[in-house]
Amino acid sequence: METRWLHTSSENFKYLREASEKTCVIPMGCIEKHGLHLPLGTDILKGSYIAHRASQLETVCVFPDFTFGDTPRGPHAYRPDGSVCLDVRLQMLLLEQLCDEIAANGFEKILVANSHGGNVSWLNTFARNWNVKPHKAVFAWTKVDIKVAPFGMGEILLQNGSGSIPELTPEDEELILTCCREKILTGHACFGETALTMAAAPDSVHLDRLGIESGLPLDIPEVQKLADAEINIADSGWEYRYPNWYSGTDPIGINERIAEAAARLASEKLARAYKTFKEDTYLLRKTKEAYHDKAYFD
Ligand SMILES: [Zn+2]
Repeated sequence: METRWLHTSSENFKYLREASEKTCVIPMGCIEKHGLHLPLGTDILKGSYIAHRASQLETVCVFPDFTFGDTPRGPHAYRPDGSVCLDVRLQMLLLEQLCDEIAANGFEKILVANSHGGNVSWLNTFARNWNVKPHKAVFAWTKVDIKVAPFGMGEILLQNGSGSIPELTPEDEELILTCCREKILTGHACFGETALTMAAAPDSVHLDRLGIESGLPLDIPEVQKLADAEINIADSGWEYRYPNWYSGTDPIGINERIAEAAARLASEKLARAYKTFKEDTYLLRKTKEAYHDKAYFD
């Protein structure tokens, strides 16, 4: 069925709410450089695509994209390059008001499907603060998993053997297993992100731009010394060590079959998270008990 809020008519909205068991998912990403081969919108493009695809496996209502996210805004940020960096306080306020609007439309459960690592810290703070005041819905977040490629696929192949990922040819299987054996570097604009973005927005991926800027870390002794002393600087100094906004071994040999398999696996995983969140009764019950106001939720 049509699960996207924006594509649903007002008349049909109640049917979507019922079918989703009052559960609404917000795809979340950011706008920032992803090496030279992936688009600025990588995180929200892949996040939105997988969140929607998962909703076709396990029905939830998919809210419009939360396009922005927490990206470095300081002098070391790679700009002007198309990145959009908003103050996190504004984003937290925006997210809270959007969640209240979702609740006002009759949803009791709100789940962010996050697709940008930089959002993890503030999402956790947001989730912790959510119950400081009474809201008419429970809030949680999960992630769109980029590690399905190559590592998740490697595990499946090792456990279940050749042919267990039907999208792949024997050559694709060999590439995946080699990447796993060599423990390739992943993180940002890496193999997994490239695979999911190829599925979500194939025309926006430019594999011919690989190899121009390195995705490997710079060795900066000063940053390492701080880390060794367990002194935490933002993102463990990521922006110093990866000045190309690219953290990963070049995904040489990646193709549309691997991309499709990655998208399927990431969608299935997210759909399982949707199902668990929909079935949970504990969070809602504890929230209702906490506010001693049964009518508040009715
Ligand atoms: Zn990303």
